[in-house]
Amino acid sequence: KKKPLPKPKWMKESIPGGDKYIQIKKVLRGSKLHTVCEEAKCPNIAECWSGGETGTATATIMILGDTCTRGCRFCNVKTSRAPPPPDPNEPTKVAEAIASWGLDYVVITSVDRDDLPDQGSVHFAETVQKLKILKPKMLIEALVPDFRGDHSCVEKVATSGLDVFAHNIETVEELQHVVRDRRANFEQSLDVLVKAKEYAPAGTLTKTSIMLGCGETPDQVVKTMEKVRAAGVDVMTFGQYMQPSKRHMRVSEFITPEAFEKYRVLGMDMGFRYVASGPMVRSSYKAGEFYIKSMIE
Ligand code: SF4
Ligand code: SF4
Repeated sequence: KKKPLPKPKWMKESIPGGDKYIQIKKVLRGSKLHTVCEEAKCPNIAECWSGGETGTATATIMILGDTCTRGCRFCNVKTSRAPPPPDPNEPTKVAEAIASWGLDYVVITSVDRDDLPDQGSVHFAETVQKLKILKPKMLIEALVPDFRGDHSCVEKVATSGLDVFAHNIETVEELQHVVRDRRANFEQSLDVLVKAKEYAPAGTLTKTSIMLGCGETPDQVVKTMEKVRAAGVDVMTFGQYMQPSKRHMRVSEFITPEAFEKYRVLGMDMGFRYVASGPMVRSSYKAGEFYIKSMIE
């Protein structure tokens, strides 16, 4: 058995800090929100919660429970065929908690719920609608599952009033079956993004992300970028895959910061609205700050 690759020096952990970070952290302690930022011990928390140069504080919230009906090879989330039913009051509770929290940009995401007739899409839509009523100025990104390609689910979320519709293709076209659960695939995910663009009001951005270091070639990355752009997707992000435990897929390669930067420049040349690309980047990395900057430029 091969040993895991050693972590290169650029994969460093960051240290929390900043006034806004401290303020947000304080308010969070009193609420029942589950943030991916804290639960996944994300190293970007200080940068995201502080809001960077534009002061746009970003955080990622999880809805629909902590148990997924799928099992992707890179993901550390609990799996079950029949997770507990969602709390019908969750959209109201989550919207109220987020509204009282002092955030500027929120990413609302979930596990996959193939067990539910609407696959959780109504829950997503209601959470967005309720939050927009309470905080019309807050920027909302929904990072959604593929809903098994069901267009009616895509429509519900795309017309809920969100600012960014995100769905992650996770890896290049060639490695879909290696990295993701077998119920997911490239065509279906791209179709979700195309439909979201069609249904959503003009000005709504679509967004996707891939992890690098799963064994893809640079050519495959470029071809995937071209297909994603041709699908009308506005935003793309690139980060390093990190193996969450020994049971998970190994890291094939640590991509250098220079290679990440090349993909960023190439993506901007291809016409993406913005591209975040770097070893520590997650799909929600400084999403608020990037969104505001892309609107100014
Ligand atoms: Fe993890 Fe999402 Fe795959 Fe579920 S569908 S295992 S939450 S990556
Ligand atoms: Fe939270 Fe995403 Fe930022 Fe990590 S990258 S701190 S998960 S918003």
